[in-house]
Amino acid sequence: MKNILRIMLEGSYTNLKRILFAADRVTDMELRRRILEGKVQPEPKVAEVPCIGCAGCSNACPTGAVEMKDLDEPVEIAEGLVKTQIPVINSEKCVHCYYCHDFCPLYALFGQPGTIHPNDVGEVEFDAGEVIQKPVKISEDKIKFIAQFLADRSIIERKNSPLEAGKGFR
Ligand code: SF4
Ligand code: SF4
Repeated sequence: MKNILRIMLEGSYTNLKRILFAADRVTDMELRRRILEGKVQPEPKVAEVPCIGCAGCSNACPTGAVEMKDLDEPVEIAEGLVKTQIPVINSEKCVHCYYCHDFCPLYALFGQPGTIHPNDVGEVEFDAGEVIQKPVKISEDKIKFIAQFLADRSIIERKNSPLEAGKGFR
């Protein structure tokens, strides 16, 4: 009993020290100040240049955290494929399930770095126009599954005719 009381008192004292003197803090106090003052820029969550604007991420998001925003000027990515929107993640609605990242066709179909990530998209550099001309080597079932989430079906449809599972398609 005496020991339990001692442990409780020591715990309370340590917590009091943490609160009053910022002891043992993991978060740097300077960083905390800069966050509170709004001086720390959030990391980008969408790589806007390689994103093809298909809205797959928005359709796959279970919490409605991904909104598609109109671009000022449409961008032609490849023949017959024009990007008119890009996604924006609302961090307050995001539950970090990573569906947006995993269903992004650039990642899921073409094996490229995902152009959307709930935390930090990182450096994503590739030419999406070139990438989507390449054959895709995944099963027809998986293509069908991913196609459900794509608002712009042309990304799949323009490659659909010579489709053969396992062989890829153009
Ligand atoms: S990680 Fe966040 S934004 Fe992405 S699908 Fe999940 S809830 Fe939506
Ligand atoms: S699924 Fe990927 S390519 Fe499509 S809009 Fe979202 S981030 Fe862009």
